[in-house]
Amino acid sequence: MALNFGRLQLSIPGPSIIPDRVLAAMHRPSPNIYEGEMVESAKTIFPDLQKLARTKGHGVIYISNGHGAWEAALANCFSKGDKILVLGTGIFGHGWANLARSMGLDVEVLDFGPASAADPQVLAGRLKQDSSFDIQAVLTVQTDTGSSVQNDIPALRKAIDASDHPALFMVDCIASLGCERFEMDKWGVDVMVSGSQKGLMVPAGLGFVFFTDRAALARKSANLVSQYWDWQPRAHPKRFYERFGGTPPTHHLLGLRESLDMLLYEEGLENAWARHDTFARALWTAVDVWGPEALRPNIVNPAERSRAVTTLISEADNAARLRAWCEEKGGLTLGIGLGTEEYGWPPADAMLRVGHMGHLNIPMMMGTIGTMDAGLKALGIPHGSGAIEAAAKVISEHDF
Ligand SMILES: *Cc1c(COP(=O)(O)O)cnc(C)c1O
Repeated sequence: MALNFGRLQLSIPGPSIIPDRVLAAMHRPSPNIYEGEMVESAKTIFPDLQKLARTKGHGVIYISNGHGAWEAALANCFSKGDKILVLGTGIFGHGWANLARSMGLDVEVLDFGPASAADPQVLAGRLKQDSSFDIQAVLTVQTDTGSSVQNDIPALRKAIDASDHPALFMVDCIASLGCERFEMDKWGVDVMVSGSQKGLMVPAGLGFVFFTDRAALARKSANLVSQYWDWQPRAHPKRFYERFGGTPPTHHLLGLRESLDMLLYEEGLENAWARHDTFARALWTAVDVWGPEALRPNIVNPAERSRAVTTLISEADNAARLRAWCEEKGGLTLGIGLGTEEYGWPPADAMLRVGHMGHLNIPMMMGTIGTMDAGLKALGIPHGSGAIEAAAKVISEHDF
């Protein structure tokens, strides 16, 4: 008989585990959407989102998933035929590029392959060739949830500056916001997109776009934008409902209010970043002890790894077998490999992703590692011993 008769553990890179408190905050009848408690509390969400993004710029909400935020950011900045440069470091960078192509943009992808971060030197070299400034914007993900690479956003900004190029810098923080250090203003990011269901611990359904005054200038000449996606009325509303282009997403806002309280005012953002760092390193240490015959990190250099998700590669289909075992026997859901051989990935069955983002404490992280360890043993996949011990040691050395 399986041993999965407890609370299911979702260790996938989004949606992440929703805290009971967030669920409880949402568990109520529809509130008054014109005035009163919900409207007042929802208004506080916007300044808190700015704190989360570390920006004095504008922050708007769409009732959408991350793809909606992607599209909104592009629609407000560009016109058909505009040229943009997308840094490819995994499936999500390519995904944003494909969406841009579908909107009629002239998209060039600077591809860094499935297992490395974007190289700022290569970006600088490409921008220097663009002496007529045809490239309107450079787009990148911070964490690519497919490859689990973390791009060095400040270094990429410096590369743009060093090339004296006026391109807008647009960053996808859908997987990383609330998990990994991100400083929109200090790092010189013009547009940032995110979503509710990863580091922010709320169900999928809210897309966020943050933008600076410089990006707001681009909006003036953009002809791709339609009424719903226009960020202007959302950023400068005359009435509350204009923030949402219609009925506010009432229950998502109630949940988000709770999660922002937890993240910004109880734990503190810097502490949340440090927590994600410790848990990521605990997992990597366990993986190192298991050894490459069992699983190896897709991103070799730890400095280039996400703290929110880790992509692991196995021999043959062991990753798929381990995932299935953890799910069926143990009640642990791991993320599928999001590979396509088109981008030079290993087959999906040789890949899994561990999400370690959002609402996570020691027993949850150790539970994931311990269940994987049991699965390796049960399936007879060769692996080194002592992984749990080693992970516990990393956690014990956290800066409490
Ligand atoms: C999840 C994710 C997306 C897509 O978000 P959806 O909510 O699934 O549309 C885009 N980019 C990154 C980096 C992501 O992690």
